[in-house]
Amino acid sequence: MIAQTCFVSPKFLYAGMNMPASSRSSLRFTFVILAFFSCAIEARAADKVIVLKAARLFDGKSKTLAQNGVVIVQGNKIVDAGSNLPAPPDAQVIDLGDATLSPGFMDGHTHLTLDFSGNYNERRLKEVDLNVSEQAIIATRHARATVEAGFTTVRDLGSRFVGSKEFVDVALRNSINKGVIVGPRMLVATFGIGATGGHFDPTSGFRDMLFGREPDYSEGIADGPDAIRKAVRFEVKNGADVIKAAVSGGVLSLADEVDTPQLTPAEMEALVDESHRLRKKVAVHCHGDQAAKEAIEAGVDSIEHGSFMKPETLTLMKSKGTYLTPTLMATEWIMSKIDNYPPALQGKAKAAAAARSDMFRNAVKMGIKVSFGTDAAVFPHGQNAKEFKLMVDLGMAPIDALTSATGTTAELFGIAQKTGTLQKGKLADVIAMPGDPTADITVTERVSFVMKEGKIIRNGPPSAQPVAVSADPEPEIPAD
Ligand SMILES: [Zn+2]
Repeated sequence: MIAQTCFVSPKFLYAGMNMPASSRSSLRFTFVILAFFSCAIEARAADKVIVLKAARLFDGKSKTLAQNGVVIVQGNKIVDAGSNLPAPPDAQVIDLGDATLSPGFMDGHTHLTLDFSGNYNERRLKEVDLNVSEQAIIATRHARATVEAGFTTVRDLGSRFVGSKEFVDVALRNSINKGVIVGPRMLVATFGIGATGGHFDPTSGFRDMLFGREPDYSEGIADGPDAIRKAVRFEVKNGADVIKAAVSGGVLSLADEVDTPQLTPAEMEALVDESHRLRKKVAVHCHGDQAAKEAIEAGVDSIEHGSFMKPETLTLMKSKGTYLTPTLMATEWIMSKIDNYPPALQGKAKAAAAARSDMFRNAVKMGIKVSFGTDAAVFPHGQNAKEFKLMVDLGMAPIDALTSATGTTAELFGIAQKTGTLQKGKLADVIAMPGDPTADITVTERVSFVMKEGKIIRNGPPSAQPVAVSADPEPEIPAD
């Protein structure tokens, strides 16, 4: 925060007008530098120091928790973090007691502008009925529920409304960044790119030409390498931070098989090349093994879901350093409400659920880089942390699951130099959960303190607000 009184007076800058040009410019330079440093000192002095204390601390990368955790925050940054650090004089000390401090969690796969949490058909009808502006307003609640659950950063992988070309995710991200609404830091993908009739085709499953036209690149639908490049450029032009594409079929789409490839190797090559030229990472929705192999070969940054990936494909993934975002919560939720889905989707969900547990166990054993991701919107927003228990139940050590949701996911996002760990100089995204998450991973579901960039969003119970849009009651996820 720079104090408003901080500016360089033109009088000072032009005081040396009669001097030789070189001396004038060096004098001007000196004043600018002096002004800059005095502003920086003033800004620092103005920022109150907050000291967060708890019985334990997870730093986002270590293999064990530190005891007597302390995080010292000034402005939007961490000044220091570790064990038994003394509090500076005049600091505000917040002692969270028998809790564990952690970097803010990150979810690599959300859809904050969508909500499928209730009955599938009812939700699908609402998507067509509701004005997009109204859906955007509803999305602000999803954003708040997510950050209050401890997720201070999310990668939002696809936001589209059938028959509309609105960039609601971009608007949501910008409104959060400007402080208009409360939510997590968002890296958004806009529409997501896919083939005609594929998992991302918004008109699939509706009557032919119901919307009067076939979707094109301006809705993320593209066929052929050149069209794919155009779609990537169009999305970046309109605010995409990351490029998402569907390279295989999906569960919640009515006109495709779950594991068939949907982009050709040449299309994937164009997708990756164009995205990387524009310095954007590529995340691909992929259940099928063949599509995964081709996508990994093409150089994508992360495979989302990956349900049917065979051990040979995981080996390839390991050698290429590709991340896996398992989204175990998605299949878990759909299976717990299977009767609420049309028969065509039930079969696909069952096949994906049957395959994904072995795939995930193998990935953990092989040491594949696992980025934490849930597919929030398939289940109600704010329940993202239930993914932790599913990961641990399938063989991941609790400390590794915590690292996945912090340091590892920050690396995939390309923001590890700014956040993801509790270290000096990083943004102050700090959360606290009761007890010890390495003894009981479900404490991640009971985050009670959330700070984002030095601002306290929550200290105690969450804000009272209804989160679910659907009138359908939400059943608890079965324990296993
Ligand atoms: Zn998704």
